[in-house]
Amino acid sequence: MKINNIQDIKRPDGIVVFVTGVTGQDGSHMVDYLLRDTNVSVVGGARRLSVENHINLRHLENESRFQLVNFDLTDSHSIYKVIEYVKPDYFINFAAQSFVASSWDFARQTWECNSTAVLDCLEAIKRLRPTCRFYNAGSSEEFGNVSYEPQDENHPARPRSPYGASKSAARTIVKVYRESYGLYAVQGWLFNHEGPRRGEEFVTRKIAKGAAKIFDSVVNQKPVVPIELGNLSALRDWSDAEDMVDGVWRMLNQEIYNEKIKNPYENDDFDSENLEKNRINWLSKQIKDYVVSSDEKHSIREFVDEALKICSIKGDWCDKGTQNEYLWYSSGPNPLPSNECKLVVVNPKFYRPAEVEILRGNSSKIRADLGWKPKTNFSELVEKMVESELKQLT
Ligand code: GDP
Repeated sequence: MKINNIQDIKRPDGIVVFVTGVTGQDGSHMVDYLLRDTNVSVVGGARRLSVENHINLRHLENESRFQLVNFDLTDSHSIYKVIEYVKPDYFINFAAQSFVASSWDFARQTWECNSTAVLDCLEAIKRLRPTCRFYNAGSSEEFGNVSYEPQDENHPARPRSPYGASKSAARTIVKVYRESYGLYAVQGWLFNHEGPRRGEEFVTRKIAKGAAKIFDSVVNQKPVVPIELGNLSALRDWSDAEDMVDGVWRMLNQEIYNEKIKNPYENDDFDSENLEKNRINWLSKQIKDYVVSSDEKHSIREFVDEALKICSIKGDWCDKGTQNEYLWYSSGPNPLPSNECKLVVVNPKFYRPAEVEILRGNSSKIRADLGWKPKTNFSELVEKMVESELKQLT
């Protein structure tokens, strides 16, 4: 896909949305959503790599409302250039070191990308384009060692990983800029969200891919390669990433989706002498960060069972809760080709130095205020992911 330098692009007319991390799952779904459901133009920022990873953008090749630019979130010059040349009306930041497990190995890089760079975005917007609305990707990992369930917007930040800590720091600085300068800057708490575009290192994609391979082995009588996993008891609140980007757009346009919010500029009584003070007040009091979640929890084991069910395979969990736990093949389209019937085994290398055992959201506020609701449930999500992997086998 054609990629330009920021200074070489022509700013489109009308509303322009700049999306970072556009080659990833959330960024690419955000672009699809905006092109399908709104009439804005989108500029996507992607980091330059020797070998391109534009697979999630290929379908946009001939899309006239989409342009791709070289962009690096950890280079503040890059951020300033975007604000200067693209003059975005919305800046949606999905670029991140997004894999929790790697955040222990690359703690500093995680911090720079997920926290420091967010401060750079806020500062650049404040200085050069204060009317630009900013969204930063927040995470349920900020809740970490949870103190109650389900977690809502009032749950304290108790992160358990450098990733969670970095997102929590970013949330604080986003709020500080909103309240100090009246920037329309928000950061949702998005619980885990998945789909066929999810990175292969995340557990859902890994299981979906593994289940499809097991199905292929069973059908074609090849040796089965068990899926190696870590903590099978962790509980997560999984949603479809496509539903989540709708929540992001609603958070960025709260006065449109929430009738209770009155825009002071449209108010007759609006005190023009205190314009700036009123604007800051309005933003601080009425514009909110929201939890976005399915409000259900499922264990990693349940995800495995559901994924295999789509392949008509059933297994029995043995030595449950131990590091020797495994899933034994009990039935499927064929008898197994060998006596080796393990479908899943535990590999301690996939355990984390500190685990978030349980995440389940309470998204009642965004549902009530902004009318958000998910379209895809847990079973449909697993099916979508496994079906996509099965298609790639052929
Ligand atoms: P996260 O919630 O953002 O960390 O998303 P992940 O998909 O990476 O992990 C979700 C949960 O699955 C965590 O509690 C992990 O400890 C657990 N898990 C168990 N086995 C694995 C594995 O092999 N890979 C990953 N990524 N996570 C695993």
